Amino acid sequence: MPFCPECGEEIEALRKVISTQVTFEFFLNNLGRGFYGEQISDPEDPHDPNYGSFQCPECGEELPLDTDKKAEAFLRGELPSA
Ligand SMILES: [Zn+2]
Repeated sequence: MPFCPECGEEIEALRKVISTQVTFEFFLNNLGRGFYGEQISDPEDPHDPNYGSFQCPECGEELPLDTDKKAEAFLRGELPSA
């Protein structure tokens, strides 16, 4: 298994952190009260390689893995871990 370049711990799995921002419409209804309407953005998809960042589960440092493919290679020990 690879080692974290930041803390040196052996890593079995990475953490992928994605934005959890969700946007809703906010309306006035016919009684003049505000209410929430449709959700107008979806949370980012954890499978979308363009989103998110990988972190070490031990120290929480972000690792220089910008794609799922690099993360896979890292976990296979194919990328230098230091
Ligand atoms: Zn670490």
